[in-house]
Order: sequence, then structure tokens, then C-alpha cells
Amino acid sequence: MAQALYRIYRPATFADVVGQEPVATTIQNQFRTGHLAHAYVFTGPRGIGKTTMARLVAKLANCEQPKDAEPCNACEACREIASGTSLDVFEIDAASNTDVENVRENIIKSVRFAPNRLKKKVFIIDEVHMLSTSAFNALLKTLEEPPEHVLFVLATTEIHKVPETIISRCQRFDFRRILPEVLLKRLQYIVKQEHVDVETDVLEQIVKHSGGCARDAESLLGQVLALGDKKITMQEASLVLPASNEMMVKQFLDLLYQKNAAGAVSDLNTFLEQGVDLKVFMDDMLEALRARLFGPESVFVREALERFLEARAQIKTDHLPQLPIELAIVELCDPVLSSRATTPSAGEPRDLPEDFKYQGVDSDYVAPIIERPAERAEAISADSTVFDTIPIISLDEVRKKWPQVFEQIRECNASLPLFMQTCEVCGVNGEHVELGFGYDLYVQTVNKDKNRRVIEEAFERVLGRPMKVKAVVKKMAEDETVIQLIEQFGGSIG
Ligand SMILES: [Zn+2]
Repeated sequence: MAQALYRIYRPATFADVVGQEPVATTIQNQFRTGHLAHAYVFTGPRGIGKTTMARLVAKLANCEQPKDAEPCNACEACREIASGTSLDVFEIDAASNTDVENVRENIIKSVRFAPNRLKKKVFIIDEVHMLSTSAFNALLKTLEEPPEHVLFVLATTEIHKVPETIISRCQRFDFRRILPEVLLKRLQYIVKQEHVDVETDVLEQIVKHSGGCARDAESLLGQVLALGDKKITMQEASLVLPASNEMMVKQFLDLLYQKNAAGAVSDLNTFLEQGVDLKVFMDDMLEALRARLFGPESVFVREALERFLEARAQIKTDHLPQLPIELAIVELCDPVLSSRATTPSAGEPRDLPEDFKYQGVDSDYVAPIIERPAERAEAISADSTVFDTIPIISLDEVRKKWPQVFEQIRECNASLPLFMQTCEVCGVNGEHVELGFGYDLYVQTVNKDKNRRVIEEAFERVLGRPMKVKAVVKKMAEDETVIQLIEQFGGSIG
């Protein structure tokens, strides 16, 4: 049953062809004016009707009683071709006959002889791009001087691998992916013929999955119909329908909305292990976020869109492609890193540990104030005369104090320390501190205004004076910390 649908409902006439009407119409018009080409090349994605069209051409060229440029499907020629028993129609799969001997044996020799019964010998060569160069050369000779009684239909999913000399001797047709609404109608037609009531949601899900490929859609529908019920709901169909990206995206975004970073990162890695294409997943997620842009959580959605767009651009195919996405997740789920939390309403107390002490002030807890850039610039210039008198801090001193600074950062921020523990203080020049990281991605993350400010404030509390922090790339000895970091999030490497 699952296999049969595609065969049972294979179009028997050009009028039945779904989604490739321009090709069908052109070929029919050529037939009407007596100008069928002697060689065609059909190109386009798999499973969208190239071979079906090739068989229709074979029937049309040989039908004993064609009517209005359609095969009659009743004469002996039509029936032989439909059942695949004609001695004059050759279907060759180039994927398994790539060498020149096969082409000579199957095609070149046979071309010389007149057809057994039909008007034309038809050679349908599937996946023609798989032929070897010498096989192409042998074929080319035949295409240059084709006998009257021969018709070639070449089909390929990769036209760029077919030599130009071959293409130029054929009439080329580009087959398109089938539009969702057209494919949906096709599935609705089939379930009606099969007398099964299938929920439209189910059919839409199948269409989405098939990516415009009729063969995939019909094969999937076959599996759904094989459930054997007269009425099939989404709940039943979900037993056979693979989880869609749409469902994965929804599950992922739910976790993100709950600020569950560990869950979201773990989900992401599970999807990747299941073979989901990271970029496709990202595109689907961005689209889902975009749809929620004017919803109740619009501030968060906008921020997520910005972060994931950046992360999407940073995906590299080689090493840990998901790392930029994981960093974005951690940032978005972190109440301090997230911009919503960096602008708390006035008087809102910051959650600080009991032993937190502001530098030099023992009695009062002073919440670290997140200043706006303008305020900060003002504060620094007003105090600049004071700084001039403060002795210069050496690299050694800063390095000695670094564990304290790190501790301060850890107390204010949950996720920043994960990156910070990989860094090294590698330079101090006046009020400027350079922090070295092994990954450009970390550098970019730490150099973001809101992150940098958290670190600068930690320095200020420990050193008693404002410092300016800059992250730079520094070659690290080992990737151990990254491995730890990834493991912490339940991910995997490679
Ligand atoms: Zn016929």
C-alpha cells in the first residue's frame, strides 16, 4: 500500500500531471504541430514527475490513436508502455550503468536498428549526470546524428554535471517543485479516491514534510493510509509522521520563554543528533520568532531575534557549529545578561549574596548600578584628576587580584563566568586591561557593552578604581575548558 499509491495514481495523461503544466503544454503543442524533439533533457529536484513525463512523451509519440495531443491509453502501444513491457522503450538508470560499455551495449548498438513494433524507440536515461566522460562522448555521437526512429529523454537532478555539448543537442525543460496548495489538492484527490477521511491538518503536515516532492508526499500519505482506519486524525497520524521542524521549534521556543537555558541547549543538541540541519532549524526558528514579534513578549522576542540572527551568521560548518547558538541561548536566558534585566526599575533591589561588600564600604550593601553610557562618561571625566594621582597598577598586581575579580563577576552573573574562566589577564596599560580568550566568539561575547560593564564593575570593586576592559583573541593551549563548558550543557563535540 505504502509503495503502491505513487504507481496507482501516476498520471496517465498530460492533463493529469500536477504542478508541471508549462512543460506538459509545450510538449503537447510540439506534438500538435508535428515537431516533437528528438531529444529532451528534464532537470529538477527528485520526485517531481520527470520520469512520469518521460513515459507520457513515449506514449504520445507511439500512440496509435492520440486524441487532442493526449495518448489514448487504450491501444496496444499505450498499454505496453504503461505496463513497462514494450521492447522499444528502454529505461536506463545511469546510476548503475555509468561506464561506456553499458552505454554502447544498451544504447548505441540498439539505436541502429528499427523499432520492433512501435513507431519510435525511446531511451529514457535517468540520473544521466552519473555517466562517465567516455560514456557521454559515445552518447554525444548518437545525439549529433540521431536516426528518425529514435527519441531520447534524459533526466537529471544535477544538470550542472551534464556536459554542455549534450544539453545543447537536447530540448531542455526545468521542472519545478510542486506548490504546497497544488500538492494538497492532489492528496485530497487521492484520499477521496481511497474513500478515507483524513484531517486536513494531517495532509498539510505531509505537504510541509515533502518539500514540494510529490513522490515523498504520496509515499508518506501511503504510510498514513496504512494505519487502516476510515477516519484518520492528527493524533493517529502522528504515529507515522516524523516530528516536523515546526514542532521542534515550538518545543525549543517554549523552553527559551521559560528561560530554561540547559533545556534549550540540550534540545538543540538532541535535534542535531537526530540529523536536523542546523541552518534550516535556525531559519525555521527565526521565522517563528518573527511571527511573534508583535505578541505579548515582544521585547524578549526582539532580543532573541537579534541574538539568533547574529549567531546564525557565525555558524561555521567545521568545529562546534552550534556553539554560537548555545551562547545566544545562555545569554537570552540569563537575567543579568538579558537587556530587560539590565535596566531594572528604580529602587528594585538586586539579589546579592550576604557577604557582598562594596569596596571600602563595610556597613552598607551597595547594589552595583548599571549606568547608562552617558552617565558613566560624565562620572569618569569628573574624577579624572583623582585618577591621575593613583599609582599605576602593574600586570602582576592585576593578575594577583584576578581571582577576586572573577569571584565578583561570578556573584553578579550566572553565565559570564563560564566564558571568563577560560581567560587570562594578558596586559595592563594604565586603566586598560586586556583579557585574552582562545575563541573569537568569546571575545565578541565579552566585548558586548552589557557584559563588559559587569566585568569593569567587578574590577572597580576589587581594585578600588575604574578600569577599562577589552577582550582579545589569544591562542589557548588546550580546548579543555570548552569541552567542559559544552558538557555542562549536555552537548557534544564534533
Ligand atoms: Zn494509445
